[in-house]
Amino acid sequence: MKIKHIDHIGVAVKSIEQAGKFWTDVLGLKIADIENVADQKVNVAFLPITDSEVELVESTHPDGTVAKYIESRGEGVQHIAFRVENIEEALAELKAKGVRLIDEKPRKGAGGAKIAFIHPKETYGVLVEICERG
Ligand code: ZN
Repeated sequence: MKIKHIDHIGVAVKSIEQAGKFWTDVLGLKIADIENVADQKVNVAFLPITDSEVELVESTHPDGTVAKYIESRGEGVQHIAFRVENIEEALAELKAKGVRLIDEKPRKGAGGAKIAFIHPKETYGVLVEICERG
């Protein structure tokens, strides 16, 4: 699999409005867009840095994955996403290597990306996302 670069770092926050102030006012990044991803029950704020970005992920529902993550582990870095050239090929390669996946098939992520998560038991506690953008 060819990883091109870190696509984004996903940071779980209780409030984009509140946490965003650190990233913008203190670090000087800019929120380029905020998107609601209904099927994942989150809002995602994109803060680009060259060809990567920080994504602040805020839950829109107490049942959502991110709400549960914050409840058990608190706010903070939740996942790292690597950009690949071809996500179907990457998933086939991971499967061939016997790697456990959360997503056997790509699903639609924020910003129109195709994404899939590797099971964190395989990655020593890091939630790893692979993603492809058109
Ligand atoms: Zn992500």
